[in-house]
Order: sequence, then structure tokens, then C-alpha cells
Amino acid sequence: MDFSLSDEERAIRDTARQFITREVMPLEQEALRRERAHRPGLERSELRELQLKARKFGFWGLSTPVEYGGMDLSAVMQALIVTETGRTFVQFGFGGEADNILYYGNDEQKREYLLPTIEGDRVSCFAITEPGAGSDAANIKLSARRDGDDWVLNGEKTFITNGNDADFAIVVAVTDPEKGARNGGATAFLVDRAMGWRSEFIQTMGEGGPASLIFEDVRVPQRNILGELGQGFALGMTWIGKGRYLIPSHALGIAERALSMALEYANTRETFGRRIGENQAIQWMLADSEVELEAARWLVLRAAWAVDQGEDPRHSSSMAKLYGAGMVNRVVDRVLQIHGGMGYTRELPIERWYRQVRLMRIYEGTDEMQRLIIARDLLRGYTKIGGTLA
Ligand SMILES: Cc1cc2nc3c(=O)[nH]c(=O)nc-3n(C[C@H](O)[C@H](O)[C@H](O)COP(=O)(O)OP(=O)(O)OC[C@H]3O[C@@H](n4cnc5c(N)ncnc54)[C@H](O)[C@@H]3O)c2cc1C
Repeated sequence: MDFSLSDEERAIRDTARQFITREVMPLEQEALRRERAHRPGLERSELRELQLKARKFGFWGLSTPVEYGGMDLSAVMQALIVTETGRTFVQFGFGGEADNILYYGNDEQKREYLLPTIEGDRVSCFAITEPGAGSDAANIKLSARRDGDDWVLNGEKTFITNGNDADFAIVVAVTDPEKGARNGGATAFLVDRAMGWRSEFIQTMGEGGPASLIFEDVRVPQRNILGELGQGFALGMTWIGKGRYLIPSHALGIAERALSMALEYANTRETFGRRIGENQAIQWMLADSEVELEAARWLVLRAAWAVDQGEDPRHSSSMAKLYGAGMVNRVVDRVLQIHGGMGYTRELPIERWYRQVRLMRIYEGTDEMQRLIIARDLLRGYTKIGGTLA
């Protein structure tokens, strides 16, 4: 058994770390200041500028195939890099990426949607959740009715990330209510904002926020079906599958950075004539955080490795998402506690993480849904206790 990174993995990871440290972290104080003034920490144009700078270092399209100008990195390598981006609270991600399901488009759709999204000239959002269907995504109601060469969409999507900025949405709609979404009754459509949907911002406890998308008789041409008629639910699950190992990868970076702040504080803050890190109460919080962080790291890398091996990664990804999201919430809570009153202020980014990481237990499958998947796999004998080592 070998738990080390290859020389190449280490070199790429270290270059990403250098870029984040040198180019992104210096923007943190300004980002915090802007967010306190209810503005984006990083303007879209600034994000783009940073992404183009990263491109010069070779970081462009981590998951994008080489033929589309990307790096086509392994899932393990992507997880390692996303962990690096998690170290900064500036909302930065490397450019040159597009939703994984846009590759299911035909040549014309690739030209019109995929390529400009990779280049950053177009902004997409993915919409399956509705006011009446979140965890139970198969219960979606937004309808698409055939009318000549068009489909007419009516209904509402909610909590859509990027929904206010996107100029097109990938919308999963019901095309055959009799069949049900899971059995071929739902279809994915590429719907330009110019076709008539509107968005409404939703305030959340985090910075920025998702949006509701409202469709009232929005006409979408037949040629804008993504993939096959009836394939919408499966495409939706493919989209969500990717986040299940990348969300906890990001959580690792946040937890590492927050824990390093706690170590420094524990080594410098003095009470009762000695450093707080000399107290067992503080030491236990540090130790528990380190153990959980390390456990989450191996669950994440195991899930990414399963993707690279071509295994069905759902079980391991659900374990990584469930544990990683819980871990970062517990670690940030302890880090806040170790900082005492300062942890609760807006001078430090800890309260910001505290609000941000809460989402990780909810979106792209709640804790409860991950548990449901894990338990169901075990109960029906699809996975064995002990996994690949059983
Ligand atoms: C900031 C943000 C961004 C998002 N981005 C997107 C996006 O880009 N695109 C998109 O389509 N969606 C997006 N979502 C939606 C997100 O995926 C859903 O909110 C999530 O899946 C939960 O659905 P729900 O909110 O309807 O909760 P519900 O499904 O109503 O669940 C409510 C509670 O009941 C629990 N529960 C439900 N069913 C069961 C069960 N069978 N057993 C046990 N417990 C159960 C849930 O775990 C939860 O605790 C986003 C959400 C947020 C908050």
C-alpha cells in the first residue's frame, strides 16, 4: 500500500498552492471588506483576470478534455487542486471549466454552449430543484409541452447557483408526466435567458446567493434538448455526482486553513499566565480536528480514486460528502471556540466560514440523503462492509 503522491501529482499540487498563496490570498482582506459592504468579494472581471493569469501557469480546465484546451486531470488530481482553492476564502476557482453534462451536446450545441462556457464568455447554471422537489428530485413538476418544433416550459426552479448571473440554464423539465422523471419522463433543455425566463435573488446566510428561475410560456426549440429526450434525470444525477467528491475536497482546504489559524492562536494567546494551547481542553479540540481532517482526506481521495478506476463511485462519494461536510462544520466550530470572542467577530474570516460551510451539509444531497444511499447500498448487498479491502 502506498499513500504518497507521485512526483507529478506533488509538482502540480505545489504549483496550484503557490498560485493561490501568491495571487489570491493577498486579495483576502479587500474581499472581506467588500463582502461586509454587501458587495461581491471578487468582481467577475477580476475573477476572469485571475483565471487568465493562472492559465499562463498551465492551470486551465482541470477536468476539461485536452481536445477542448483543458488539462484533463485525473479525479484525484482535481480533488488535490480543489483542496488548494479551499484554503482561501476568496471565491476563486480555476477557469476553463464547463458543466460535465454539456459534453452530451451535439456539435452545434457544443459550439453554442460548451465552448463559450469553457472560455468564460458564457455563464451557465444547472436547475433541477423546485419549491416542491429538492431531495426528492424525481418529483419535479416544471413542465415542457411540445408545440410544433418548440417546447413550451412552465414552472419554477429554486436555489439555483449562478441563477442570477447565468445567460443560459440547463433545465430538467417533465416531458412525459405519465412515465415519471426517473423512468424517462424528464428531459434536459438548454434555455437561454433571452428565451424569456427570469431570475429572483434569494438571500441566504452565506455570501452571494442562489436564485429562483421562473418560466412562463418560455418557448425552447426542439434542437435545444441536451442529450436524448427522456434522459434528463440521468443527466441531472451525472451533474450532481461530480460535486460529491469535489465539495468535500474544498472542505479539506477550508479545514486545513482554519485549523492552522487555531494552532497559531493557541500558541500565542495567553490566559492565566500561559498560552491557551497548554490547556488540555484546547489540545483536545486541536487533536480531534486533525484526526477528522485526516479521515476525511482519505475518504475524499478514495472516492476520487474510484472515479479514476472507472468503478461506480457513488457509495464512496456519498461517504466522502457526508463525512467531509460534517468534518468541516465541526472543525470550524472548534476553531471559532478556540478564538473566543475574536472568533465571533467580523475581523476574522472564521464566522464567514462558519456560515459558508453549513451549506455543505445541504446542497447536492443533504446529509440524510447521503446516509440513505450508504445504508441502502449496504442493505441490498451492493457494497460490502470494508469496501475494496473486504
Ligand atoms: C445555496 C444553495 C445552492 C443550491 N444550488 C443548486 C443548484 O445549482 N441547482 C439545483 O438544482 N439545486 C440547488 N440547490 C438545491 C439543493 O440541492 C436542495 O436544497 C437540497 O437537495 C435539499 O432539498 P430541499 O431544500 O428541498 O430540502 P427537502 O428535500 O425538503 O428536505 C428537508 C429536510 O428533510 C430531509 N429529508 C428529506 N427526505 C428525507 C428522507 N426520505 N429521509 C430522511 N430525511 C429526509 C432532508 O435531508 C432535509 O433535512 C441549492 C441549494 C442551496 C441552499
